[in-house]
Amino acid sequence: MKIFNTLTMHKEEFVPIEPGKVRMYVCGPTVYNLIHIGNARPMIVFDAVRRYLEHKGYEVNFVSNFTDVDDKIIKASVEEGIPAAAVSERYIAECKKDMAAMNVRPATTHPQATKEIGGMIRMILDLIKKGHAYEVNGTVYFRTRSFAGYGKLSGKNLDDLRSGFRDLKVSGEDEKEDPLDFVLWKPKKEGEPAWPSPWGEGRPGWHIECSVMSKKYLGETIDIHAGGEDLIFPHHENEIAQSESCSGKIFARYWMHNGFLNIDNRKMSKSLGNFFTVRDILSKYDAQVLRLFMLSSHYRSPLNFSAELMTSAANALERIRRAASRLRDIAAKGKGGAADPQLLSEIAAFTGRFDEKMDDDVNTADAISVIFDLVRFANTQVLDDAPAALAKAALDELVELADVLGLVVLTEEEEADEEIDALIAERQAARKAKDFARADEIRDELKARGIELMDTKEGVKWKRI
Ligand code: AMP
Ligand code: ZN
Repeated sequence: MKIFNTLTMHKEEFVPIEPGKVRMYVCGPTVYNLIHIGNARPMIVFDAVRRYLEHKGYEVNFVSNFTDVDDKIIKASVEEGIPAAAVSERYIAECKKDMAAMNVRPATTHPQATKEIGGMIRMILDLIKKGHAYEVNGTVYFRTRSFAGYGKLSGKNLDDLRSGFRDLKVSGEDEKEDPLDFVLWKPKKEGEPAWPSPWGEGRPGWHIECSVMSKKYLGETIDIHAGGEDLIFPHHENEIAQSESCSGKIFARYWMHNGFLNIDNRKMSKSLGNFFTVRDILSKYDAQVLRLFMLSSHYRSPLNFSAELMTSAANALERIRRAASRLRDIAAKGKGGAADPQLLSEIAAFTGRFDEKMDDDVNTADAISVIFDLVRFANTQVLDDAPAALAKAALDELVELADVLGLVVLTEEEEADEEIDALIAERQAARKAKDFARADEIRDELKARGIELMDTKEGVKWKRI
């Protein structure tokens, strides 16, 4: 599998540190409001990356944080007259609801910055000890020039950066040794959340959070670090500087960044009145439509959100679902007979074609085209009177490929029906093998679920009672 690595600006073969295992960190949202559809893009895209890596057999340790200490959270807490922790707890819960609605799987671990303060203090102490950081009046700064690799991710040159800063000497920050230095720890201001530290009460800077949480849950060197492209500089550049100055090791081997989501070809902003939360969109569209829309273009390209594109995603999803539903009905009819081996092998070959697209830097747009080729194949080659085995094979293939992208193509009821059909088939097989105990057990289980079986001339039928 090839991944475009922002660090080298090339597509590179993905080779994990440990065979069969992937350590992946995705910068999560700052929780001061409901998440917007721009935040949903990295969630959906990197969830698809994770699912694809799992589909290829990797065990993925997927860590994504919540930034729950930040100026915007403090501002919201002052406006609402409630503690900052109450603001962040509320929006973490809301964010998890949106993630579940979008079928974004929960991370292996979702660390929260406020619960990792001890680790941050330890890393800052270590940086001071190693000469990479210094304290002035309760603020600790990272000594940017002390890290020789600074700028390697964003391609920025320290001298260019420095001349850009010359006019920007903000008051209160002239205590820095160098305008390029950035904050690791800042002193408490009245009314703000604060923690005790060797430099007095205060709170951590944003960048140190991710360095600490990534190290704690994934180790000093990880495979993939990801986020939106706005994070390349300064956030990810600063994470590298902190982590590598501490450990002397490579922080992350592959850096993946998603492009931005715009609305009607303009930057999403509250003042332009084109700002949508995920909640706004889910009140108008099925969350699966949003997901298909997000994955219909390459993750590194800018993506334009418009009602027109959402309508075409809705139609596309409907086409996949209609095909899945039809295959399910054919399978449920239970027509016996062997499936044509040629058709079965053509069905199985779709996985290879899908994987080939995904192996090319997660080309979900082309992978979706392969799903549509499968839909077309099913609609033309699996006829209404086809053997159940053929319909089932085509359906399983469709469900599996869609699931790699987190797309659900059968409704919950249809999925339940499928499970019942499978149990009935198992019961028939048990009876044939004279395993009557198992056959009775299945009948009882179905009965408990309110399913009555009927032996008919065309085979076993069932109904809900
Ligand atoms: P934030 O809460 O601003 O730190 O953002 C959380 C994640 O959403 C980061 O990975 C950002 O890069 C990403 N993000 C924010 N806005 C957009 C957008 N309009 N399009 C794509 N990604 C975005
Ligand atoms: Zn981060």
